Amino acid sequence: MKTMNGYIDEAESVLLHTYNRFSVVFDHGRGVKLYDLDGKEYLDFCAGIAVFALGYGNEEYNNALKKQVDKLIHCSNLFYSVPAIEAAKGLTGAAGMDRVFFTNSGAEAIEGAIKSARKYAFNRDGSTDHEIIAMNNSFHGRTMGALSVTGNKKYREPFYPMIGNIEYADFNDLDSVKARLNDKTCAIILETIQGEGGIYPAEPEFLHGIRELCDEKDILLILDEIQCGMGRSGNMFAYEAYGIKPDIVTVAKAVGCGVPVGAFMMTQKVADKSLIPGDHGTTYGGNPLVTAAVCEVLRQFKDRDILSNVREVGAYMYEKLDELVCEYDFITGHRGVGLIQGLVFDNEKMPAKDVCQRAVANGLIVITAGSDVIRFIPPLIITKEDVDKMIVLLKKSF
Ligand SMILES: *Cc1c(COP(=O)(O)O)cnc(C)c1O
Repeated sequence: MKTMNGYIDEAESVLLHTYNRFSVVFDHGRGVKLYDLDGKEYLDFCAGIAVFALGYGNEEYNNALKKQVDKLIHCSNLFYSVPAIEAAKGLTGAAGMDRVFFTNSGAEAIEGAIKSARKYAFNRDGSTDHEIIAMNNSFHGRTMGALSVTGNKKYREPFYPMIGNIEYADFNDLDSVKARLNDKTCAIILETIQGEGGIYPAEPEFLHGIRELCDEKDILLILDEIQCGMGRSGNMFAYEAYGIKPDIVTVAKAVGCGVPVGAFMMTQKVADKSLIPGDHGTTYGGNPLVTAAVCEVLRQFKDRDILSNVREVGAYMYEKLDELVCEYDFITGHRGVGLIQGLVFDNEKMPAKDVCQRAVANGLIVITAGSDVIRFIPPLIITKEDVDKMIVLLKKSF
């Protein structure tokens, strides 16, 4: 039998080296625990990067998928399928949106959102030089369009030129957005809670200010809820806490809890003046298999009252992480809400990256966000006891 290191050597000889991976080969999962090939157990506070919200080895979820596998996996968007219709109703209902287009990933959802916004503006005035305002420190994905609105030059520069006419403003700085606004602006795109950039929630005044600017000038507000949406903040969508709605919203990650599916949704106002037949498409997007997963995910969110658990355990985790800020001088900050939280490390004294490496060796999966933040994005079904165990393992890793 091959050892874990044997597999890792093999992987590194054939997979393109675009990730510096942890030295673990996972085999299976149960609840909030993952197990490697040697049978070692890991408490998972990463959830496959905010994907596996409902836990591993979820029998009802697995059965829903198996049932759909036996019925129909794929049939092309030239036809209708019942899972896609049910998922569309459920997801738009949960988001307060009117229309949805299913994609295969988050980045593709962003591509669709950008195209929708440009088409909307094109329909209005016929010009072809519209601008989009994106945020510094943001992350929207790795395809060329999504990369173009990602406010991190390090990710963009090797791949220049980007798609044109993107302006970058500072997150949580309304004046900086206003300074980039002009008659050509067709959309403002931001994460309601910046994820990869280091867990920065939008300040209420900032988001309200942007909503007002957009209303005044018929500019579309695109909220990227790929990481912070689907219950992670304690609301189904993080923008609910602000009492505002976007014109376009993107989701992915937890929406399928492990199968590749994302979506962009929009209000009827946008749908009426944007994409029409011929403008956009996807072969796999929203096929019966992945939309059956979306239906089952939405059902479990409701039947198991996942949001209440996120609020309760999220508040508990907030207290516990706050205690660490008081206890250790190398932890300099704490941000987030619900089950999307981050601890800021003084990398000189205690590099966040090294803590993650040691945590994984100790059987706790945590990952960084930005260079100096450890983020906590566990499955949404964790308990307070899991949080207690996490704190013990984390302390052991300092
Ligand atoms: C992960 C992520 C994306 C990209 O999603 P992919 O499925 O990896 O393409 C986009 N936006 C945000 C906020 C994300 O966290």
